[in-house]
Amino acid sequence: METTRILNNYEKFKVEEISKRYLSYKHIVDYLKKLPTFMQLKVEGKSVLNEAIYSVELGNGPKKVLMWSQMHGNESTTTKAILDLLEFLVTQQNPDYNLSILASCTLKIIVVLNPDGLKNYTRVNANKVDLNRDAYHLTQPESKILRNVFDEFSPHYAFNLHDQRTIFSAGNQNKPATVSFLAPAYNLERNINKTREKAMQIIIGMSECLQKHIPYQIGRYDDAFNINCVGDNFQNRGASTILFEAGHYANDYEREETRKYIFMSLYASLLDIATDTYKNRNVNDYNKIPENKKLFYDILIKNAQVNGKQVDVAIQYEEYLKNNRLQFLPKLQGIGDYDGFYAHQTVNAKNKVLRINSVKNFENETYIEEIRLNNEIFSMKLTNS
Ligand SMILES: [Zn+2]
Repeated sequence: METTRILNNYEKFKVEEISKRYLSYKHIVDYLKKLPTFMQLKVEGKSVLNEAIYSVELGNGPKKVLMWSQMHGNESTTTKAILDLLEFLVTQQNPDYNLSILASCTLKIIVVLNPDGLKNYTRVNANKVDLNRDAYHLTQPESKILRNVFDEFSPHYAFNLHDQRTIFSAGNQNKPATVSFLAPAYNLERNINKTREKAMQIIIGMSECLQKHIPYQIGRYDDAFNINCVGDNFQNRGASTILFEAGHYANDYEREETRKYIFMSLYASLLDIATDTYKNRNVNDYNKIPENKKLFYDILIKNAQVNGKQVDVAIQYEEYLKNNRLQFLPKLQGIGDYDGFYAHQTVNAKNKVLRINSVKNFENETYIEEIRLNNEIFSMKLTNS
């Protein structure tokens, strides 16, 4: 597949009006309502706060693919990538491939499963329940909607779409996990049956495709089984299920670069399914994808002087909403020796005296308004927000 050519044309079909991390649900719904009639829009039910939850169905083929995004309300990157995918299929940038997908597959996409969480920028729904721990008991309306769609549509493939934090590296190396995958276990023994094997083979294909564009930045999650997790539950019910995790790329805190690679992953996997190409792949290659490790901080200040000692200082951004805008608030994560860890921004303080919020003695987990190194302000401005 000519992924380079498709990515070079990305700006032509990127849904630019829906961008950055904190999305407007109204803008998303407005976009969906303007889709052409071959994409059928349907209200699948209502959220706790009575928001309509939409699905889009398209294609006429026998292979059924179900996707749902933003079951965690503060994980918007895959939603943006889904809109880009729809736009790509509408504008037919690549008619032969697109026709093959729509002739071989029927896609059903729940664009935002947790619209209340989207609005409040929370992982949980309005009842403060993590929908990805509610797959067994189905206590929440959003969980029931997803299960009803799953039961009615009866997919062969299921894509569970998420964002991951900036802390992950792809293996033990200084590379962020920009995209991570998992073929969840379907039982406690973590066996590989035919259903799970297909998910692994499709992941291998996406990983190979992404390697050309973001080498060494593709990770894999561990596969501890939990029947309360939607992915594990659906794998157990016989749909080849894949967890997608959109992660960090360079200074892309708004995840506008990452969205491109999620779009590419979705497209590559659909083409793979349409053409059965994945069946030729050796499932053992799945384990060659490096496992995600928690080796990253947002900021590491190395060799700073704190209380007369030379130490490293680790900082992580916390995201929160203020006046309907997303803020990234830096928070102190630790002081000590951070050899073997990496950061998206690393500075060598060369033994300068470090002050946080004007003081030399500070508590861990302090929210940081200002850092000074020998009285000079250290800039923590995010580059693209
Ligand atoms: Zn998530």
